[in-house]
Amino acid sequence: KLSERLKLIADQVPHGSRVADIGSDHALLPCYLVNSGQALSAIAGEVNPGPLEAAQKQVREEQLEQYITVREGDGLAVIQPGEVNVITIAGMGGSLIVKILSADPAKLVGIERLVLQPNVGEDTVRQWLLQENWLLVDEHILEEDGKFYEVIVAVRAEDAAARNAELYAANPLEAYGVHVSKEQQIWMGPYLLSQPNAAFARKWESEKSKLERIVQTLQQSQAEESRVKEQAFQQQIGRIEEVL
Ligand code: SAM
Repeated sequence: KLSERLKLIADQVPHGSRVADIGSDHALLPCYLVNSGQALSAIAGEVNPGPLEAAQKQVREEQLEQYITVREGDGLAVIQPGEVNVITIAGMGGSLIVKILSADPAKLVGIERLVLQPNVGEDTVRQWLLQENWLLVDEHILEEDGKFYEVIVAVRAEDAAARNAELYAANPLEAYGVHVSKEQQIWMGPYLLSQPNAAFARKWESEKSKLERIVQTLQQSQAEESRVKEQAFQQQIGRIEEVL
């Protein structure tokens, strides 16, 4: 059975897509997408031999070889320009996701939608999308087995720059009289902030606790540098408290 996390990612892929799942590991996502009819075809890309083999095995067992090609390669190297219109990248750090997306801009021509699930570094992903004029259209967060996962969806749009500017200029917590800066929205997610669910609240409670523990440790140090760090972490704690 597909995990809640992979199901949430799959839900962001429109019916009739041609998908490349980069860093596919067991290829559970492309298999699900083809079986559900959301993907007409898929490419499962893997750079490591173990996961590559796992992907091949899964596709074979589900008898989906006709629809899913498993390819060995680094990031977007496994796709030809124009071959797919949706890219999914899940279960790795935000900086690796950005590195993969930045490596070869020609491979992004014809891509209409990115569905990204960074395990950490969600802000790095949002920052990159903004800078590259991908329109941020949706965000989701869920908690599974004690971990929090954010799913970030972006699309190509002629007027992406203007619409992103509008998105980040709007204050998601205006109704509560709380000002949320653009930087903070990039950190926490503009859509997640505007419709916070239980997982969002729990994630940021947990981040706050982590920061409080760091501050406690820093307080035991006499170094001047520790005061500076402590202040920075205190500020982050304050920003989290404001929105919770
Ligand atoms: N996407 C699956 C998921 O979300 O369940 C698997 C996530 S797994 C933790 C990350 C996978 O990304 C690993 O199988 C790893 O081999 C692969 N990977 C890491 N860097 C990669 C790269 N540059 N290109 C392709 N695959 C990569």
